[in-house]
Amino acid sequence: MTRRVGRTGWLERAAEALGLIETLGPGAEPLPSVSAPGALSAFPPEDQWDDWAEYDAAAWPQREVKHRMLVPTTCFNCESACGLLAYVDKDTGQVARFEGNPRHPASRGRTCAKGPATINQIHDPDRILYPLRRKGPRGGGGWERVSWDAALAEIGGRIARAFTEGRRNEVVYHVGRPGHEGYMDRVLRAWGIDGHNSHTNVCSGAARFGYALWQKYDRPSPDYSKAKFILLISAHLESGHYFNPHAQRIMEGLQGGAELAVMDPRLSNTASMATHWLPTLPGSEAAVLLAMARQLLEDDRIDRRFLHDWVNWREYLRHREASGNGAAGRDGARGLEDFLAALKRDLREFTPEFAAAEAGVPAEQIVTVARRIGAAGNRFACHTWRSAGSGNLGGWAVARALHLLSVLTGSVGTAGGTSPAGWNKFVPTLVDNPPAQRLWNELHYPREWPLCHYEMSFLLPHFLREGRGRLDTYFTRVFNPVWTYPDGFAWIEMLSDEAKIGCHVALTPTWNETAFYADFVLPMGHASERHDLNSYETHDGVWIAFRQPVLREARRRQGRPVELTWQANPGEVWEEDEFWIELSWRIDPDGRLGIRKHFESPGQPGKKLTVDEYYRHIFEHVPGLPEAARAAGLDPLEYMRRFGAFAVKTTCLQQHADPVAPAAAAAGKPDADGRLLDAGGGTLGVVVDGAARKGFPTPSGRQELFSRTMVEWGWPEYATPAYIRSHVHPSRLDRARGEFCLLPTFRLPNLIHSRSGNAKWLAEISHRNPVWMNASDAAAAGLHTDDLVRVETEIGHFVDRLWVTEAVRPGVICCSHHIGRWRRQQDPLANRWAVNTVSLSRDGKLWRMSTVAGVQPGETADPDTRRIWWRDGGVHQNITHAVHPDPVSGMHCWHQKVRIQKAGPDDRYGDVVVDMDKSQAVYREWLAQTRPGAGPPGLRRPLWFNRPLRPVDEAYKLPPAPDAAR
Ligand code: SF4
Repeated sequence: MTRRVGRTGWLERAAEALGLIETLGPGAEPLPSVSAPGALSAFPPEDQWDDWAEYDAAAWPQREVKHRMLVPTTCFNCESACGLLAYVDKDTGQVARFEGNPRHPASRGRTCAKGPATINQIHDPDRILYPLRRKGPRGGGGWERVSWDAALAEIGGRIARAFTEGRRNEVVYHVGRPGHEGYMDRVLRAWGIDGHNSHTNVCSGAARFGYALWQKYDRPSPDYSKAKFILLISAHLESGHYFNPHAQRIMEGLQGGAELAVMDPRLSNTASMATHWLPTLPGSEAAVLLAMARQLLEDDRIDRRFLHDWVNWREYLRHREASGNGAAGRDGARGLEDFLAALKRDLREFTPEFAAAEAGVPAEQIVTVARRIGAAGNRFACHTWRSAGSGNLGGWAVARALHLLSVLTGSVGTAGGTSPAGWNKFVPTLVDNPPAQRLWNELHYPREWPLCHYEMSFLLPHFLREGRGRLDTYFTRVFNPVWTYPDGFAWIEMLSDEAKIGCHVALTPTWNETAFYADFVLPMGHASERHDLNSYETHDGVWIAFRQPVLREARRRQGRPVELTWQANPGEVWEEDEFWIELSWRIDPDGRLGIRKHFESPGQPGKKLTVDEYYRHIFEHVPGLPEAARAAGLDPLEYMRRFGAFAVKTTCLQQHADPVAPAAAAAGKPDADGRLLDAGGGTLGVVVDGAARKGFPTPSGRQELFSRTMVEWGWPEYATPAYIRSHVHPSRLDRARGEFCLLPTFRLPNLIHSRSGNAKWLAEISHRNPVWMNASDAAAAGLHTDDLVRVETEIGHFVDRLWVTEAVRPGVICCSHHIGRWRRQQDPLANRWAVNTVSLSRDGKLWRMSTVAGVQPGETADPDTRRIWWRDGGVHQNITHAVHPDPVSGMHCWHQKVRIQKAGPDDRYGDVVVDMDKSQAVYREWLAQTRPGAGPPGLRRPLWFNRPLRPVDEAYKLPPAPDAAR
């Protein structure tokens, strides 16, 4: 490595003249090389990863050479799991910094701002280093250090009691950020409980449902880099799921000539990069997409071959006939052209003018985008995830309407199109597979929402208040519902009530508002302090990556191995993998409950399973990995420890056309629609051109334009893609009263829901969340930037400052949901880069939050804590939102109908008020929209619908009514 010698600017020359820096210009001595000469490369050569010599930038102008060991892991600051390389200082044994891992097939050495900021998190001076148990009342703010042994004994003992007393549904694991493949499902199956709860239905449940209706697979996997046209319904390029891996490929697509369209009421960074920005009104997206579908049909820019072979159009026609919606076709014929004519008739109301009126964008723009999509043929890639789906009543219909465009253009599973995500996901072979549980937990899957996609997690406080159950032991894991969920005061009340929750165990790398109401706070590692297997659908291919505790691995390479990860981590910070093995042994120490056997060493029965054994087994069964490892002179586990990632497949398109296994095909019987049926009537595949093909895992074996499931489960009006008017549709807003749609769902690209308060670089970039308002709306209301405004929701209000901007369309206001973190004075001071100190009080039915102090500088081991220059920690808006469970998908519909006005004389910045009577009333109002009991008798849920931690099929059946049982 040599110093750059060349032209210098005036500032450098002046600094040279003053002797402040060394001479850089002509005549400068080259610095001595600290590594072997070689070609220029973006990353240190792999053969030097064990001993990489570099100058220490922080020591400049001293020429200090540091020796680092480069250990791969993966980022844990969003779902993407981009590859990181930890630069471990060989003298201090500490991580000096994180950079990207060039070996990672998805991130390819690149990260966003949040990846390198992992260094802030592991060196956070306020982090939780030891297990803690509450002292005094729950939520009182008192804590004492406890040993891991004592915590495990107490938690394990109470779970064992619950199990032996037949209270298995009282043990629940509630996860915010999973970040692993299958590990927890295995644990919960081994425990025999239906105890998985997630955050999905405040996140992506609606979009997942829209996709699942089509093809069972509930996520899209666009092949952006080969696309000709890309349509994003979100700020996906900067902050959507997998956005760093996706952003790289979207840019490649654009460089290759693709056009980009973005539908978003906000001029996000993504929208600013687009060829076509459609600032559609929130909730109108499905209308616009259906208008585009209509246009594709009008222009005849459709893929007849794909439609004929892979869509259940025959069922669609039969359904139309049966519902009296016109004859199936001329003279009773049932051909593709009749189907297309029928579809055109069904979409006739979605004229560009209708969609334009709904969305508030020009009809010509809708037609233009539709024509550009049509011109792209089957190289049309598209994506929606949270955004419109998560904001609106009926938001699931947006994903369904978007996928209709992929289907019409034949862009499903093509190069440059959009594949089902399951094709890109690696499923590990586990060391042991406990059987599926036989229970069904109605706290997660209640009867009112038989089609809900993922658990009705945000209604848990309401369900417990109604007496639907209680929890004995409740684990929250990287999960902060008090702050991230709507109706957070209901969560505080639930968590504070020991009659409802016997023991709350918070597994978390950092303090959060939910952990304040725990009985145990157990510190779990950040990205570089834990094991996890990762595999995500970032592009056309399949990959795995290994998140590993880098200091443990560094010590192993140095011949100083540790037995458990917390022995190498700071303090006694542990990791979940080993924690669950230990806890399972505490629950079932002698094996009588049948649990311990699932956590025993495969090689040494009677001894505990180790993480090395667990991952060795997985990696030895990854296709191609043992061979690649052998070629590198390594075993598969060693290979993953050293390089951190492996590409299992480099392409995996068109899997629906894969042949059915010959024996099964020979035994199958085709029906009139070309479905290939097994002896039990199950769908094995479909017959296309005389050959048995796998098709899609739906009841029809094809893409389901018509959903029999929706008809059978009480929603016949949504049997085909539909437009559902949102709860924030303009017709439901009284603009004369100052009512707006509040869009609270957008993310700031450098923040992590509730986990960036401990990352100083990130918090310094963004730490306040003003309300965005279009300049025309502000002028009409007499409001200006920095005015204090009161935003009234259905159940309360918050007080924030206004930002007047052209970057949001008129009629909509926005507020980022990442900011407004808080602690009470009695709570530990943590996340100091982002946290306000507040007072909380309940007066009758009203909860109040007031800011006592903003972000403050202070003395810690990190001198930067003295340099905190900002005081504004933002405003907690989510806690003023009522719950809005969509009656079909179960998704929380985040958008809020609000009234905004200038703050009153008694209003203070950061004030929050919530009326708990109103919170319950709104819950009941949405509950009343459900259609419980509308499905086939005796079933809780369609059997073909998957769910996390799927129980045995028998559990899908409702227990017989008491009368019938007699
Ligand atoms: S996109 Fe950013 S936050 Fe997400 S995993 Fe990659 S580097 Fe980490």
